[in-house]
Amino acid sequence: MSMTSTAPSRREAQSSALKPRVLIVEDETALVELLRYNLEQAGFRVSIATDGEEALALVQEDTPDLILLDWMLPLMSGIEVCRQVRRQTASANVPIIMLTARGEEGDRVRGLDAGADDYVAKPFSPTELVARIRAVLRRIRPALAEEALSYADIVMDLVAHRVTRDGKPVHLGPTEFRLLRHFMEHPGRVFSREQLLDSVWGKDVYVEARTVDVHIRRLRIALNGPDQTDLIRTVRAAGYALDAQG
Ligand code: CA
Repeated sequence: MSMTSTAPSRREAQSSALKPRVLIVEDETALVELLRYNLEQAGFRVSIATDGEEALALVQEDTPDLILLDWMLPLMSGIEVCRQVRRQTASANVPIIMLTARGEEGDRVRGLDAGADDYVAKPFSPTELVARIRAVLRRIRPALAEEALSYADIVMDLVAHRVTRDGKPVHLGPTEFRLLRHFMEHPGRVFSREQLLDSVWGKDVYVEARTVDVHIRRLRIALNGPDQTDLIRTVRAAGYALDAQG
């Protein structure tokens, strides 16, 4: 496993945390590099394991959004890794795409039986693989597959990290960006301050509930021009929602 030589700045860490993370489990170095390059270009974060045990350890440490899993691996087969990933509660629903040199129907069925969501036979074109990844994410984790989210006249470009309202740029800090993204992924739904803290700040971070109000206020100021409707609805005693009807 390669180590990064420099720690990312706080801003980079926060913006990259928005991209879906794909765990590549493959022992062929050249293929790993090809996959890494193409997935990063397509806006994914990538982590790499070169055998099954390393893969299971990484999955346990931090559940990825999708696993690209080679069938033929040293020590433990991809099929066995797939079964074990499925057995653990935290990773039971992670989308898995199996990669394999075997193209036979029987193997395809075995892969799907073990809990894989899709199956791509080698050799494959990186473009096709990226399309399959997006298709699987769209089916299982719809919000993650999208490169852009839109609601009413707001558009969030998740790859370029740009937001516009009515075609005009909106400048958001990293926390406001994540807040808005969370709302845009669940339009109309009311979230309590505690729920927003868990989803936007993370469960392990201690932040006072009032902090949410501060960032909601900043989000409103950034989002609402003088003649624009406030799309963020305050629900007394309940929380906040993104709601064009409100
Ligand atoms: Ca292999």
